[in-house]
Amino acid sequence: LASKLPTVGTTIFTVMSKLATETGAINLSQGFPGFDCSPELVSLVEKYLRGGFNQYAPMTGVPALREAIAQKTADQYGVNYHPETEITITSGATEAIFATVTAVVRPGDEVLVFEPAYDSYVPAIDLNGGVPVYVTLTPPDYSIDWQVVRDKITDKTRLIMVNTPHNPTGHVWTTDDLAQLANLVRDRNIWIVSDEVYEHILFDGRVHNSLMMHPELRERTFVIGSFGKTFHITGWKIGYCLAPKELSVEFRKIHQYLTFSTVTPIQYALADYLKEPDHYRQLPAFYQRKRDLFLAGLQGSRFTWKPAEGSFFQTVSYTDITDEPDYDLAIRLTKEIGVASIPVSVFYNQKNDYKILRFCFAKDDAILAEAAERLRNL
Ligand code: PMP
Ligand code: GLN
Repeated sequence: LASKLPTVGTTIFTVMSKLATETGAINLSQGFPGFDCSPELVSLVEKYLRGGFNQYAPMTGVPALREAIAQKTADQYGVNYHPETEITITSGATEAIFATVTAVVRPGDEVLVFEPAYDSYVPAIDLNGGVPVYVTLTPPDYSIDWQVVRDKITDKTRLIMVNTPHNPTGHVWTTDDLAQLANLVRDRNIWIVSDEVYEHILFDGRVHNSLMMHPELRERTFVIGSFGKTFHITGWKIGYCLAPKELSVEFRKIHQYLTFSTVTPIQYALADYLKEPDHYRQLPAFYQRKRDLFLAGLQGSRFTWKPAEGSFFQTVSYTDITDEPDYDLAIRLTKEIGVASIPVSVFYNQKNDYKILRFCFAKDDAILAEAAERLRNL
């Protein structure tokens, strides 16, 4: 079979998690919580499983969940989305990203991608015949040079992929970034994907500047969320897409033939669980403590870093330790000291040697302390 994705191998998340399991290493590579979700949420799912909510959900999602998301979005960002026509429940953010790209991109369309980029974006663009155009962000700031973005926009640009808080760097967009983007897309036929799966995980008093909060951006943006990160349920694969009515119509045409609908009892459970804002409002403090614990453990090591602004990932530079490429070092550290990480170069299209590793700190305190101790002694 002639491959439609000839340059794609197995994702780095699978590669590193498998190696961590085989070697018994502490797994700070693939991003998932090392602790369980709340028993209350499990009980709610059980209630609906036992209550006979086990057949197809409506294609667009269970109404109660769409209404709960509309309420949460209004409370949190002061922005209204109509649950009937502008909110669609998906099987994870991954499905929502793929559906959006498929709905928008035609062969030859250019799609602006900020790299390092989450690894599902570019294959979705490729499979739809789009042409990724990269804006490269560099350590330690990963901030956006808007003049560079301006220079990359052409008449063929159809879509821009945004991710804030950012995986893998933890970088967070400011209101100025929103204004800059709005200036660039004004009067152009350009749409935006805003991957906001870490919307509730920001540190040091930062607030999440959702693209929906800028009225001009709201009109052309597919805002994508996931409950995986917010409620420690990455294995449940449930997310959503918020988009103006005419964009949601096109999004739903793809969604209905990708998966049709998303797991029913979990949707009912989340609709109930979302009604209590404390379930997500405590996340910044919860994860900031973990970030700080991990970084305190790295004090005195030869790694250097800027504390992550958001997400549950911390990137560190190892230029003072070794010349090895990051992929080789990630493999070696897993095997030799038993700490698995993600080499950040895999999130770039351009070959590069920035010497950055990403560590996931969504783990129990004792695990983080042990991993940091092993890294400190390098
Ligand atoms: N986008 C980003 C930036 C992510 O980090 C992830 C997963 N960790 C996803 C999308 C996919 O989310 P989901 O598991 O809900 O498909
Ligand atoms: N988003 C997670 C990460 O960045 C992994 C998701 C996956 O394994 N595909 O580590």
